[in-house]
Amino acid sequence: MLHLNKNIKVLPEKRLYVDMDGVLVDFNSGVNRLSTRMYELYKGHPDKAPGIFALMDPVPGAIDAIERLTDHFDVYILSTAPWDNPSAWSDKLNWVHLHLSDYFSKRLILCHHKELLNGDYLVDDNSQNGAKDFPGEWIHFGSQQFPDWDAVEEYLNQCASK
Ligand SMILES: [Mg+2]
Repeated sequence: MLHLNKNIKVLPEKRLYVDMDGVLVDFNSGVNRLSTRMYELYKGHPDKAPGIFALMDPVPGAIDAIERLTDHFDVYILSTAPWDNPSAWSDKLNWVHLHLSDYFSKRLILCHHKELLNGDYLVDDNSQNGAKDFPGEWIHFGSQQFPDWDAVEEYLNQCASK
């Protein structure tokens, strides 16, 4: 006789990846919070400043939208952390803990090769680090078609219902 575990949640079939910097995370809010000394020290490459990723605010609307989208998609966070700024790796993990629900526990992927991930949609503001070669559909955040989270969520809700 087959015993079904009623506690197992059936995940949505379509998989969605969401970038952090410039999509979930307001990168410039971190730059603006650097001390004058750190700002001068890392001028031109602020992503290398130790601790900067712990200082960043969410992009408006991002948190509510991504939490709602977990109802319709299997959602992962897919971000790239600077190779030569080790604090960025732990700061990004801490940022997810601080701002997102337990759903996102163990759903943070830090990777320089986004084209290797299997999935249906990637929300990313940048074509680099494999985003333009992602095997599913690249949703270009910040573009004319997808200027903000309202536009992205509306589009993805349409995709989910197809
Ligand atoms: Mg980005």
